[in-house]
Amino acid sequence: MADVLVIGAGLAGSLVALALADRGAAVELLDPGQGCSATNLSYGGVPWWAGAPGPMDQLMASAPAAWRHLEQRHGPLGWSPCSLRLHWSDAETEAAAAAGEVAFANSGLDQTLARVEALARRHLGADQVERLEASPASGGRRVLRLDYGRIDSRQLSLTLPQALERAGVRRRWGRCEPLQAGKLPASQVVLAAGAGCRALWPALPDRLRVSWAGVLQLDDGSLSRELLNTSALTQPNDILMPLFAQRQGLEQRADQIERPEWVVDAGLAPCGEGLLLGQTSLIRPGTACGASPQAASLELGLRQALGRIDPRLGQVPASFHQVPVSFSSSGSPLAGPVAGAAGLWLFAGLSSPFALAPGLAGVLAEALSGDPGALERLPGATEEANPGWD
Ligand SMILES: Cc1cc2nc3c(=O)[nH]c(=O)nc-3n(C[C@H](O)[C@H](O)[C@H](O)COP(=O)(O)OP(=O)(O)OC[C@H]3O[C@@H](n4cnc5c(N)ncnc54)[C@H](O)[C@@H]3O)c2cc1C
Repeated sequence: MADVLVIGAGLAGSLVALALADRGAAVELLDPGQGCSATNLSYGGVPWWAGAPGPMDQLMASAPAAWRHLEQRHGPLGWSPCSLRLHWSDAETEAAAAAGEVAFANSGLDQTLARVEALARRHLGADQVERLEASPASGGRRVLRLDYGRIDSRQLSLTLPQALERAGVRRRWGRCEPLQAGKLPASQVVLAAGAGCRALWPALPDRLRVSWAGVLQLDDGSLSRELLNTSALTQPNDILMPLFAQRQGLEQRADQIERPEWVVDAGLAPCGEGLLLGQTSLIRPGTACGASPQAASLELGLRQALGRIDPRLGQVPASFHQVPVSFSSSGSPLAGPVAGAAGLWLFAGLSSPFALAPGLAGVLAEALSGDPGALERLPGATEEANPGWD
């Protein structure tokens, strides 16, 4: 197999580099290595049962086995089973419905619960999906608990570089300059630079978009343990998210927005000894990544939303970070050869990448090795490719 240059050492680039090395390719992985990638600030939730019916569903459902296989082969990467706790409060739902906020419409509560439970029950048993009663300690807030899995992003950031080195992937530190047609730096190049892909190759499909995620990072281990051990809503290894999460809706209407819009989804996830408390999502019109948004109002909005689920969370001594995240406005990931650029491949814009990337990286590596069957199983990197994935 030809040498492969992978640009970007986040989740997507690192997993495809490992998959390529496992198949005997000589792989170089290029990244500036400043540590502030979407992967490093991620909750790392693995929604393996949440794929839409179709080929994506099968790849996502295989994610727990794929992560366990990766750990057997490459050492610990931070995988653990956990629960996803989706929270809501009747009072908040009613107030939002009265204000006409579609995402919270009270009439949609029963349907939303039924839809999520039905999705999960395709793969989970009855005792793995449960509605928990509200208690006075939870301020009347209720929780739907579902079996889940997660990758601890702190552990991943520590162990993945070692795994790559042991697999023989050559690491190169630096920022790749924009690529030029006919002058690629290797015979095969994989663009896996997340929100940085378009700057490297502007002629990518419009559905490859960027959102800016904001999250509070709490590194104080003893405070994090205290918060988790005394929480009425969550347990120490679990991920807490709103039932009526708004990020996905914002991404779906990204192509229609005419000015910057942002939403807050109050929740938290363990991260090493500390916590990530998130998250804000901001999308601008157009496809450019742009500069980091002004932080003050976003941080305030996030702290207010966190404070409504637990007053202590709104006041944690945590630092606010923002990071650009690539997504696909159609929901279909971009993975495959880039049209009109022989040897150039794209791996970006994945929704639920912690569930999808392990399987998809393997298929992409097989396609790069010249397997035509694998090429057909990829969702594609162009607008036209493989409509069955949408
Ligand atoms: C708060 C938060 C919570 C999240 N929760 C979840 C979750 O629970 N489950 C889930 O599946 N997903 C979640 N996500 C999304 C997920 O983390 C990201 O979609 C995913 O990590 C993106 O991986 P990536 O490799 O595509 O991009 P990135 O992690 O952004 O990596 C891209 C890399 O490319 C490098 N790069 C950029 N430009 C260049 C260049 N010119 N040259 C060289 N290198 C370059 C960057 O330095 C970076 O290291 C969450 C994200 C956030 C922020």
